[in-house]
Amino acid sequence: MRTRIGTQVILGAGLVTALTIGALAVLILRAHEAALVGELKRGADLLSETIKSSTHYDMLENRRDNLHRQITNMGRQQGIEAVRVFNKEGRIVFSSDASEIGRAVDKQAEACYACHAAGRPLERLPTAARSRVFPAAGHRVLGIINPIQNEPGCATAACHAHGPRDTVLGVLDVTVSLAGVDRDIAWGRGRMVGLAAAAITGSSAILWWLNRRLVVRPVEALAEGTRRVAAGDLSTTIPLTERHELGELARAFNDMTRRLAEAQRQLTQADKLASVGRLAAGVAHEINNPLTGVLTYASFLLKRAAGSPEQRQDLEVIVRETKRCREIVRGLLDFARQTPPRRQGTDLNEVVRRAVTIMMNQLALHRVALALDLATDLPEASADANQIQQVVVNLLVNAADAIGDGGGEIRLSTRATASEAGPGAEIVVEDGGSGIAAADLPRLFEPFFTTKGTRGTGLGLAVTWGIVQSHGGAIDVQSEEGKGTRFTVRLPLAAPAGPGPGG
Ligand code: ADP
Repeated sequence: MRTRIGTQVILGAGLVTALTIGALAVLILRAHEAALVGELKRGADLLSETIKSSTHYDMLENRRDNLHRQITNMGRQQGIEAVRVFNKEGRIVFSSDASEIGRAVDKQAEACYACHAAGRPLERLPTAARSRVFPAAGHRVLGIINPIQNEPGCATAACHAHGPRDTVLGVLDVTVSLAGVDRDIAWGRGRMVGLAAAAITGSSAILWWLNRRLVVRPVEALAEGTRRVAAGDLSTTIPLTERHELGELARAFNDMTRRLAEAQRQLTQADKLASVGRLAAGVAHEINNPLTGVLTYASFLLKRAAGSPEQRQDLEVIVRETKRCREIVRGLLDFARQTPPRRQGTDLNEVVRRAVTIMMNQLALHRVALALDLATDLPEASADANQIQQVVVNLLVNAADAIGDGGGEIRLSTRATASEAGPGAEIVVEDGGSGIAAADLPRLFEPFFTTKGTRGTGLGLAVTWGIVQSHGGAIDVQSEEGKGTRFTVRLPLAAPAGPGPGG
């Protein structure tokens, strides 16, 4: 059976809270009870002393009736259960309950044990040792005993009841009811249990909420995202903005899916371009020969044409359109070129300058200004200078087309970079032209994709892409419609020159 993390956390934390609060409640209740009973003991002790001193003279004078009356009256006071006087032999000689007078108690019984434990009565005992709590008639009772000491006045009294050698003559025993205290304790216990239950419920609710917000929801979002990615949806992003570890995890996850999507896009692109390339190469090869024939014979006919001007005009159209066909076929053959680049240590700044020279007139014609920003410390790239020059020219032609006849500026720069794939050199072509619609971006490098109608072949970027790929490089485009476009071509560096023969 699957138990949720949240449930386990709450159960664990709830148990700890319950144990802590329970232990605290027990300690507090015990302290409360000890305080109440202690207070009552002091009261009972005071009462016992008061009884002793108020009956002192009646005892000295042996006024038994007086004594009996006083003790009976005291015993009737509210909260007092009984007041008794025991003689040395443990017989009750006075009691607020007349029926028990004369009854003897066992000196080893609980009430007497403290004093008689050592076999003989003790004269002085702390209050704690003189008191005891025991159950009686449905409630608890606190008893406190108070030894009645012999005094010179007593030993020499006329009654001659006690000899001078007796130290303790008897014991005054006062018992008070603990019913009130027990009620207080029960009420306190009830209140404590209620408070503890409220505290446990409250803290569990807060924990539940925190756990749901901080752990469960982010984890569910991550799990859902992982399932979607596993099902092939690489556009999945997890909308987590938390700044804790799970937020980090979500960011790492989003980063991972973005890279996977990019890798997949590139693979699909490479696949598509490779098959289109093979097809194009085949078709171009087949068409090239008959096309050359058509062009040769059409040009031949035009040269010798003696017919009407209309016939000449028709032949001129045939020649022009056939030349256009030949351009397209050439482009296709370029795109599908199987020749691997002849790569060597190349100064990209030099390549860029050569491309600019080729393009200068065309750019000036369109009133396009060129801002060059070439890195001075650019390391040599591993490249085929001619092919890369073609790449730069293609990008410049497109940039100029995008700017149109209104005039504008192209920024062309080079720079050294360090990416995850290692150090490299970049050529960046930026224009402030028409920009590219977001919907067109994924198709940009496809052969025959063009927005220029019959003016375009849609092969420039496909060829560019093929060249960059065969260099082990990468081409990246960023564009905003109406604002402009930036193409970045990244090429690997040439291996550093090995150590000389001596080194
Ligand atoms: P062509 O230039 O013959 O159309 P390309 O493959 O060179 O073929 O370009 C394909 C399409 O990409 C262009 O038709 C154009 O829509 C778009 N494009 C390329 N470069 C840019 C750019 N710098 N600004 C705007 N659009 C561009």
